[in-house]
Amino acid sequence: MEKPDITVYGAHWCPDCRQSKQFLGEHQIPYAWVDIEKDKAAEEFVTRTNNGKRIIPTIVFADGSFLVEPSNAELASKLGLKTSASRSHYDLLILGGGPAGLTAALYTAREYIDTLVIERAAFGGQAAGTEKLENFPGFPDGVSGIEFSKRLRSQAEKFGVELLHAQDVLELRCRQNYPCVKTTDGKTYSARAMLITTGSRYKRLNVSGENEYLGAGVHFCATCDGPFYKGKRVAVIGGGNSATEESLLLTKFADHVTILVRGDQFKATRVIQESVFSHPRIDVRWHTEAKEFIGRDSKLTEIRLINNETGSEELLPVEGVFIFVGLSPNTGFLEGSGVVLDPWGFVVTGHDLLHRDCWPKKDAGRDPYLLETSVPGIFAAGDVRDKSTKQVASAAGEGASVALMIREYLKMR
Ligand SMILES: Cc1cc2nc3c(=O)[nH]c(=O)nc-3n(C[C@H](O)[C@H](O)[C@H](O)COP(=O)(O)OP(=O)(O)OC[C@H]3O[C@@H](n4cnc5c(N)ncnc54)[C@H](O)[C@@H]3O)c2cc1C
Repeated sequence: MEKPDITVYGAHWCPDCRQSKQFLGEHQIPYAWVDIEKDKAAEEFVTRTNNGKRIIPTIVFADGSFLVEPSNAELASKLGLKTSASRSHYDLLILGGGPAGLTAALYTAREYIDTLVIERAAFGGQAAGTEKLENFPGFPDGVSGIEFSKRLRSQAEKFGVELLHAQDVLELRCRQNYPCVKTTDGKTYSARAMLITTGSRYKRLNVSGENEYLGAGVHFCATCDGPFYKGKRVAVIGGGNSATEESLLLTKFADHVTILVRGDQFKATRVIQESVFSHPRIDVRWHTEAKEFIGRDSKLTEIRLINNETGSEELLPVEGVFIFVGLSPNTGFLEGSGVVLDPWGFVVTGHDLLHRDCWPKKDAGRDPYLLETSVPGIFAAGDVRDKSTKQVASAAGEGASVALMIREYLKMR
């Protein structure tokens, strides 16, 4: 077999290495992977190349040039990928190329609506990072996140969607009645309508081992990954509604669930609390935090716990841990745009705008579409939206629905 032109030096636990590998994989660019923790000569090479520092990923190209910890934009530019669009104005700009954005794009492009999708990382969004999707309709044996994202992307491209790689949307404004965005390279793109599908991120604890065992014992979605823990012991971290509800859900699969709560009480509703307290296979530890995730053979085996009152530590043997300490929406770039957010930063849409009295009914002369934001002509769908259900199937469903709303909106414009 021919040796690939690109070699990525890294380690299995390194998230930046995963990001670069994912970027290369998504763009179907062959590369050789060298784990420097298993190859002494490679480790020495990386250290020598970086003037005595062990920095990964270090990516070496056929001509001997190399990039160290590159951003996706740097990698894209080095690889000659398209990082600027063919024009500066479109019928529709879609911000974020996850399941919601790509589904909307394939619907609109199929209706001859001229569509550009701007994505800062690899197309596919959070779904691309999912080991195996088992609950998307039509895949009875499940499908890997990478394969699913590849299919979504090629389906969108088939209908003529233009995809802009490795560009972060930094700002959204309305100029002369057209929404426009600025991207990392300083370019501005405008459109007759805009769709925000930038998703959200699960908040991390930032403790040792969390990244290393991501998807290999450390999870953020019980609906998605709970079924992998049939008959096993798991822990749940958090004390809000999500942590308690997901703990109850996990009892359908796991043998035992231990909930670790930083404070001395739950923030969940009373009814859920009662169900948790009365459940024979759930125990709760108050004033308890995870200090380290520990494993063997790339699988989580135990959590080092610390009692934040006494400072005492202990090891809790578990095969899985589910972290529910909140979600951060990717909406920082909306500051100053006029798009109304809820108190947690998610985009408010539809009837909720009327209840909050933040829809410009007089100017718009109509009520908002169900997935329209407080700025007429700017829509939102998927995980970034307030009250969305944070699942791939619902994100894709919202993408399809919002595309049809945008079609109707564009007919009026
Ligand atoms: C580890 C993990 C496992 C999961 N497993 C499952 C599962 O098994 N089943 C299931 O149904 N759900 C699962 N989910 C949830 C599911 O992935 C999400 O609900 C779904 O991907 C949401 O789609 P979306 O398009 O709304 O947002 P996302 O998938 O988050 O996509 C948003 C996109 O926008 C891009 N973006 C963000 N900000 C900007 C910006 N400023 N400029 C340009 N681009 C930007 C992001 O890079 C991203 O690609 C999982 C999530 C995670 C993290």
